[in-house]
Amino acid sequence: MRNMMALSLFLATAAIAPALELQQPLYAIKYRKLIDRKTAAVRDNVAIIVEGKRIRSIVEAGAIPQNAEVVDLQGMTVLPGLIDCHTHVLLQGDITSADYDNQLLKESIPYRTIRGAVAAQAALRNGFTTIRDVETEGAMYADTDIKRAINNSIIEGPRMFVATRALDVTGAYPLLGYSWELHMPKGVQVVDGPDECRKAVREQVEHGADWIKVYADRSYYFTEDSSLHSILTFTFEELKAICDEARKLRRNVAAHAIGREGIENALRAGVSTIEHGNGFDDEMLALAKQKGVFWCPTLFVTEYVAEGRAAEGRPIYGQMIAHQRKAFAKGLKAGVKIATGTDAGGFAWDINQAVELRRMVDGGMTPMRTIQASTSVAAELLGMKGTLGEISPGAFADIVAVQGDPLKSISVLEHVVFVMKDGKIYKSPAAGDR
Ligand SMILES: [Zn+2]
Repeated sequence: MRNMMALSLFLATAAIAPALELQQPLYAIKYRKLIDRKTAAVRDNVAIIVEGKRIRSIVEAGAIPQNAEVVDLQGMTVLPGLIDCHTHVLLQGDITSADYDNQLLKESIPYRTIRGAVAAQAALRNGFTTIRDVETEGAMYADTDIKRAINNSIIEGPRMFVATRALDVTGAYPLLGYSWELHMPKGVQVVDGPDECRKAVREQVEHGADWIKVYADRSYYFTEDSSLHSILTFTFEELKAICDEARKLRRNVAAHAIGREGIENALRAGVSTIEHGNGFDDEMLALAKQKGVFWCPTLFVTEYVAEGRAAEGRPIYGQMIAHQRKAFAKGLKAGVKIATGTDAGGFAWDINQAVELRRMVDGGMTPMRTIQASTSVAAELLGMKGTLGEISPGAFADIVAVQGDPLKSISVLEHVVFVMKDGKIYKSPAAGDR
């Protein structure tokens, strides 16, 4: 008899199992206020219906489906998951050359990858549900492994777009300054000449690069007219070869460019984003705007490294702070597409990368535009417009919430209390952390 019951229970379970499998988790996220990036308007008393990985609809609170699990975030501000377009999960801060060199010399790539996994988790818990990680700083293709482990639910972390090794020319990128008898590791893939450039792009794409990262310049200096210059790394032909090959393989190029020369070479060669861009002047801003190139200004890291680098005999980083603020103000005025990129990893991962948003607002960007730079504009940079960076039907259910109003005080975004990515809750004020 008992067996019979067990059997019938089994049969019943077996019969409903496929139906259960097909049914996606359904959430209704209730909240009072939503910052709508499309209309830049604030909405009241609504609920986001999340089905599986995506947002199904946004309904009035009274129209929530009965079978939905209600997540009550009333009294909080709900917004799309934040996007950081410039991180290095495989770097743990590098104020001085020694900080950098030690990581490459004394830490194995497996060890760095473990630290990278923790960094990725920190980004997600900070509310950054998507990151573009713009090179591994000598850790080869370990970013693709972290991304894979996240995608396979082995570890928790944000959605990742990865650039793998980055490209630079001979003699331009650390480790530098060691005896010529030694073959030191490099923080990049070293390539010279258009053919090597093309081959490296092919290799990196083969091994999983979503983006190609290049260092367009180095050795920065101010001239008397207080404009910021640099030494070019790649020739125009080399950089163009990289951009052309990347485009052929459906990839875009992110260029580290700080001096005017680097910015100009990168823009003319056809990159999609300028990283740092401290030396942007009116002419280069106009060119960036005309070409539809995005700028990730990375304001916080400039301040963060300045003192330590000055103590090390590199005072230029101190001068760059004021210069960068001016360039940022000019960029806002010029209407260049500015997306949030923090350079987290360039500073230690125990600092919440959302600190960058406060710097952007301090620099003259409105809070709403700063949030857009961290959501919808960043999504556009990633080629994910409509799918990421917004709360709308069909978009991935990447949603965060904060106490307080970021339009009044942007720094509340440094205290994200709810994180959902791909329809899964990773942090919740109601249930504690999941
Ligand atoms: Zn960086």
